[in-house]
Amino acid sequence: MKAAVFYGAKDFRIENIEDPKIEPEDILIKVKAAGICGSDLHSYKEGIFSRRGFVMGHEIAGEVVEVGTKVKGIKVGDRVSPMTYGMFDISGACGKCFWCTRGQPQWCSSVGHKACGECGPCKSGEWWLCESNQRHMLMGYSRNGGYAEFAYVPYAKLGFNVFKIPDNLSYAEASFLDPVTGAYKWVNQGEPKSWETGVVTGLGTIGLAVMQVLKLYVSKVIVSDVSEKRLKLAKELGADVVINAAKEDPLKKVMELTGTGRSFSGKGGGCADIVMECSGVPFVLQQAVEMVRTGGRIVLVGLFEHDVSLNMNHIIHKQISLISSFSPGKQPGNVDIREALELMAEGKVKVKPMISHEFPLDQTMEGFEIQTKADESVKVIIKP
Ligand SMILES: [Zn+2]
Ligand SMILES: [Zn+2]
Ligand SMILES: [Zn+2]
Repeated sequence: MKAAVFYGAKDFRIENIEDPKIEPEDILIKVKAAGICGSDLHSYKEGIFSRRGFVMGHEIAGEVVEVGTKVKGIKVGDRVSPMTYGMFDISGACGKCFWCTRGQPQWCSSVGHKACGECGPCKSGEWWLCESNQRHMLMGYSRNGGYAEFAYVPYAKLGFNVFKIPDNLSYAEASFLDPVTGAYKWVNQGEPKSWETGVVTGLGTIGLAVMQVLKLYVSKVIVSDVSEKRLKLAKELGADVVINAAKEDPLKKVMELTGTGRSFSGKGGGCADIVMECSGVPFVLQQAVEMVRTGGRIVLVGLFEHDVSLNMNHIIHKQISLISSFSPGKQPGNVDIREALELMAEGKVKVKPMISHEFPLDQTMEGFEIQTKADESVKVIIKP
């Protein structure tokens, strides 16, 4: 099959690679749409996160073309979106180790699968290539993903790691299931209340999805970005106040809108209840610490390409909770996915307006290049 193979920063090569073969527990999908994720962009720009030689793409939707004999409830022709982390299963946890006794069985070494430790790849330190491990690696990072004609879903289980696409959503729209699920989970980690004001910094797909979900819970949502295009879209999608950080000081504006907080430093600061940090820009996180009220929450959604220096005393004095978007959600992952899909199907989170470009597989590099240009693109979809 044809695939865009990742070789490092700004280096995708369209190659013919072997078709994925499925086991009795798997399904094979003809990929119809694969969205470029912000995390994919880090790989594209810096060569980090994804592993060389693999096909990236984890935000995918497609048509089922082959179903393993042990799979239930999924048939050839079904329109589906696979989701890796809905499958997370801690039933194998030992109950006795360091992590299990601390109530964090997700890190127990008996959970999930292990590399064999004896094969060639294992001995050379490339454990993710180990045959007993490869099927369990994360799709689009250390296992082939969606920038290809076909993708397989190991251990396909309907409602856990495979979701049927509602009729009113196109494949391209359904490929947003991953970012919208993230947005739903992260907003809930911030424990929003109906009387609160939230700020979303950074309006990529994630920021725009986070903004729409947050708006369902709080009374006012303020957003900031430097892209006029994205700010305009945020406004159309329901943001109450948009701040162009290139033209005005977001901190000053947030203070105007939310009031000046208790001052521990002589400088005050804002009174936002929650800041959803979606930009991954060090300076913006520093501002978030000043924007948020005493006792407020900052959910760290964006990943950073560079180190951040923070005024730790402000964080301590203001009793700010910094919440990692990687920490477990309030409910099982597959429940988040189902609820996110419902929000999309009901139009409560609108994803279609975010699609700015579509490219065929051959032009994956062009797609990534335009995705790096925040003022020209929002979401780029690759259509193999
Ligand atoms: Zn993603
Ligand atoms: Zn354990
Ligand atoms: Zn091995």
